[in-house]
Amino acid sequence: MKAVRIHQFGGPEVLTYEDVPDPQPRKDQVLVRVKACALNHLDLWVRKGLPGIKLPRIPGSDIAGEVAEIGEYVTAFAAGQRVIVAPMHFCGHCPKCLAGVQNQCREFAVLGNGVDGGDCELVAVPAANIIPIPDSLDFNQAASVPLVFVTAWHMLVGLAGVRPGQTVLVLGGSSGVGIAAIQIAKLFRCRVITTAGDEIKLEKARLLGADEGINHYKQKISEEVRRITNKEGVDVVVEHVGAATWDESVRSLKSGGKLVTCGATTGSNVTLELRHLFARQLTLLGSYMGTMGELREVLGHVFAGRLKAVVDRVFPLSEIRAAHEYMEKSQMFGKVVVNP
Ligand SMILES: [Zn+2]
Repeated sequence: MKAVRIHQFGGPEVLTYEDVPDPQPRKDQVLVRVKACALNHLDLWVRKGLPGIKLPRIPGSDIAGEVAEIGEYVTAFAAGQRVIVAPMHFCGHCPKCLAGVQNQCREFAVLGNGVDGGDCELVAVPAANIIPIPDSLDFNQAASVPLVFVTAWHMLVGLAGVRPGQTVLVLGGSSGVGIAAIQIAKLFRCRVITTAGDEIKLEKARLLGADEGINHYKQKISEEVRRITNKEGVDVVVEHVGAATWDESVRSLKSGGKLVTCGATTGSNVTLELRHLFARQLTLLGSYMGTMGELREVLGHVFAGRLKAVVDRVFPLSEIRAAHEYMEKSQMFGKVVVNP
């Protein structure tokens, strides 16, 4: 099959489009013919080099496609069925997995990171990872959902315990996690404030449901939040930007507020004034992906049309370098997808 592989870490030039042997599914696995694979910021980190990644590696976490072949032990699926692949690898039998918190499994890895992913024509995964999709969702839309929606759901619902009437600040409203978080917070009848780097992106975020927009290049986030909330601050901050916005995010919280973070796109070294943490009784929550239960839960809302995938641009898989370069320029609103 054709696949994109990384043989060394570096810039987009290390993404090699080449022939590799077809994967052979185990008896408990399903072979999926990949129709679309969405990019995430994680793809850029993997390409640049993360500890523990073995090379060569096929990147790509978010896979939509058709069942090509099922293993002898698999009875739930049939060839030709339209599916997505849960973007995570877990052992399935440890206490954490059995308790339903797969993202705390010692073997937990994201597809395309700790294990090979979907920037290729065929992928073999355990049957537990296969989730059928409705015909109303095309492959590009379907591939745009799993990683960012399970991440945002785990942050807002699983960890922050968001409730109707709360005010939520979503950093980076044009990013995949931002787009998901805005919609999930609105699903819970929250007031949503978001940030973006230009007016066009802010307008698109408003169309998704954001009540207020802050241009983070022109306005100081915490000052705008204070103005919008009548000096009160927000109940929950959804953080994934990191160093560039951390101080502003912490300052935007009301007393007793919760900051939940799943990433550090602009850098991971930040400072924290402990006096603020205890005196204002803040909660800081670290979030990594989500559980299979949460993925199923959020997909139910996507399949029913209450939450929407946003696709920005589709590239052929053979143009993976251009797709990475496009993503690095941060010009998109929504997901960048590749098609084998
Ligand atoms: Zn496990």
